[in-house]
Amino acid sequence: MIGKEIKKIDKKIFKKLIIPFYSPSSVVPIYGRGSRIFDQLGKEYIDFSSGIGVTSLGHCNRLVEKSLVSQSKKLWHVSNLFVNEPAIKLAKRLTSTTNFSSRVFFSNSGAEANEAALKLARYYSNSIYGCYKNKIISFFNSFHGRTFFTVCVGGQFKYSDGFGPKPSKIFHIPYNDIKAMRSVIDYNTCAVIVEPIQGEGGVIPAKIDFMQELRNVCNKYQVLLIVDEVQTGMGRTGKLYCYEHYNIEPDIITLAKALGSGFPIGATLVNKKISEVVEIGIHGSTYGGNPLSCAVAETSLKIINSKKFLLNVRQKNKVFIKEFLKINRRINMFNEIRGKGLLLGMDLKNQYKSKINEIILLSAKEGLLILKAGKNVIRLLPPLNINDKDIEEGMFRLYKVLKNI
Ligand SMILES: *Cc1c(COP(=O)(O)O)cnc(C)c1O
Repeated sequence: MIGKEIKKIDKKIFKKLIIPFYSPSSVVPIYGRGSRIFDQLGKEYIDFSSGIGVTSLGHCNRLVEKSLVSQSKKLWHVSNLFVNEPAIKLAKRLTSTTNFSSRVFFSNSGAEANEAALKLARYYSNSIYGCYKNKIISFFNSFHGRTFFTVCVGGQFKYSDGFGPKPSKIFHIPYNDIKAMRSVIDYNTCAVIVEPIQGEGGVIPAKIDFMQELRNVCNKYQVLLIVDEVQTGMGRTGKLYCYEHYNIEPDIITLAKALGSGFPIGATLVNKKISEVVEIGIHGSTYGGNPLSCAVAETSLKIINSKKFLLNVRQKNKVFIKEFLKINRRINMFNEIRGKGLLLGMDLKNQYKSKINEIILLSAKEGLLILKAGKNVIRLLPPLNINDKDIEEGMFRLYKVLKNI
């Protein structure tokens, strides 16, 4: 049975059938439980990647599975031509997790959540102030998704070049640069979109004075502040949302990744004044707010949004840091470890920069799944409920790889 599957699914078949946007690992996972994954050969891996920050409650979490199965026996999909119970329940729970948000739009991914945020920001500015208040400010190295609007707003041009004319009035400035931010935001600015920690860009946290001054300047020029919490939200940084570390209130936040624990869902949470300019029909989605995804997301949110759960995330951060320091004392390959909670970036010294893909490959061989961010950062996004033993074992596997580099 297992032997047959190996012949059936491998990278060669992938290459033949799937449009090659990706070059996936040769590991073919078929089974997951908690923070462990098993491949076709039955080989076991510790998962420090969580499907890029998605399976934050571990693979096949029992309570999440229960809500999926239970909803799957009632109603899967009706479209937004109808109201459905799970969507209303999730909306109620989500909007009550923030002070600023009064309403939510559901979609299916992070890119779509940001697409809706940016469209809504433009629509709001246009309705209230007129068509000249349309500038969107974003940051170099930022990542906001792959729809054409969001990828053009993102600050990595290798992702947006080659697709023809880009939407205009999008401006990029250096991250954490207060001076640049003050000089570019003006009365013609509609919105700023920012990741509180740049995830894909290298696990770079926003500085506290930068975020607070950004909020001040946005207030001064009546600019909407969109905080992209797609990767940093849902408890990843030890608070439900990362912006809470900064003592600011956004106008819009976007969520996806861990919101559905692996079931696709995105959400755009907006304040009252934005939701009030919206007219019926100006935006939409067939799947958005689908009962299955909303039932699963409500359970995920219920589990994550507890003081005890979030405190545990902050405690696990300390276990990782301790293990990291132990390793780096022996091999001295890293400049530093960055991030908050369980969004961690280990910054490789210059001389090991070219080795990062090899490190990821050898780690998989050693039974450990890790991620890259930027050019020289090993990114860890373990399940938020990982236990100490799995952290120690995973870091030991990483050490075994690194000491031979
Ligand atoms: C992953 C990510 C996105 C895109 O999410 P998709 O679900 O892949 O569309 C957007 N913003 C941030 C910060 C992300 O990390």
